[in-house]
Amino acid sequence: MTISWYRPATQPRRVAVLSVHTSPLEQPGTGDAGGMNVYVSQTAVEMARRGVAVEVFTRATSSDQPPVVELAPGVLVRHVPAGPFEPLSRDELPAQLCAFTSGVLRAEAFHEPGYYDLIHSHYWLSGQVGWLARDRWGVPLVHTAHTLAKVKNAALADGDTPEPRTRVIGEEQVVAEADRLVVNTAVEAHQLIGLYGADPGAVRTVSPGVDLQRFRPGSQAAARAALGLPRDAVVLAFAGRIQPLKAPDVLLRAAAELVADDPTLRERLVVLVAGGPSGTGLEQPQALRELADSLGIGELTRFVPPQSGENLVHVYRAADVVAVPSYNESFGLVALEAQACGTPVVAAEVGGLPVAVRHGVSGLLVPSHRAGDWATALRSVALDAATHAEFARGAVRHASRFSWARTTDTLLEAYSEATAAFRDAALEVAV
Ligand code: UDP
Repeated sequence: MTISWYRPATQPRRVAVLSVHTSPLEQPGTGDAGGMNVYVSQTAVEMARRGVAVEVFTRATSSDQPPVVELAPGVLVRHVPAGPFEPLSRDELPAQLCAFTSGVLRAEAFHEPGYYDLIHSHYWLSGQVGWLARDRWGVPLVHTAHTLAKVKNAALADGDTPEPRTRVIGEEQVVAEADRLVVNTAVEAHQLIGLYGADPGAVRTVSPGVDLQRFRPGSQAAARAALGLPRDAVVLAFAGRIQPLKAPDVLLRAAAELVADDPTLRERLVVLVAGGPSGTGLEQPQALRELADSLGIGELTRFVPPQSGENLVHVYRAADVVAVPSYNESFGLVALEAQACGTPVVAAEVGGLPVAVRHGVSGLLVPSHRAGDWATALRSVALDAATHAEFARGAVRHASRFSWARTTDTLLEAYSEATAAFRDAALEVAV
């Protein structure tokens, strides 16, 4: 990896990144690990390449974890003991924030004053820690919410559990305190301003990225061989955390409709699901398999555990279409990764997905979660060779507009703005 030690004067030397509830070292695609983990690690690596050292603080979940791990040159992950050495649910974590904050402050106290130039907190739990550390260290706080309780609660899947009021209050506090609020899309900016009263001047839209070196088009036949799938199959894939919010059941129901409409498809159709249970999905980890059986497509459905990025490439390349049927999605990295591999995406028209997917160019956006609407959309992309070829080209073009390098450059601009705003505010107090 090339590291440039040239650093513009406004750029921080060292950033404390807070990721309390999940570590960038974890495998995404199950439990609490998903797009945020990828975001944190990819932007950290890109920052280090630009000469900005990054230290990520995350809660220690096992006594085997070393206190400090080097994720990449210039990027350290610090495991902070806070509560038992075991995974805790998000409901249990607020009670550990005091212990976690104390660990972060102690780590900083070992260094000369002014060791970190800026704090970037991810998710509201980290925002609570960042808010206090910001006041102690006298440095700006940049916050990324990743998801918002009020938005999630407004678009719950049937029977799903709403986010608690404690989270809503905690998010409101962080929104009021942060010097800059980084959001993924203009829609999220409106949500933050409209639902949380964020200062529009403090909100900065930064598009997430995709690793274009890893996620590239490649041989579909080779990918299918790697996964043990027939070469001539029609493959519909889902990748990500299995929970009601992500709605993989919509894909299964739509697949069942496709087979009901054309029974010959039963010979060729494969529904590939990569990922593990998460969130409220943990309460019934077998629910999706049971649904596939009850829909009569159990034999056509292949479940694979969370895949490393390298293996996920096979999943995307093997698929004719990747489905992202979520009820809410602040962006949807899976959609971007699939398109970068040349696979069209059919996605729900919610949250950031209309930015991640270009309707009619790189795939289709479906304005409902009805199985019939999804079956129609999936059929028109997966079974029409001309449309598929056109969208596959559009997908690669669309994804090529995003990269983690671009994300990080914009993020560093937001850091500079936060630093200037923080200094101005400090000057006002002094005068
Ligand atoms: N992912 C993975 N292995 C899997 C499934 C998913 O590494 O088996 C990763 C995927 O590459 C993506 C992330 O998990 O970067 C999911 O991000 P997304 O924004 O789609 O959803 P989130 O998890 O943030 O809700």
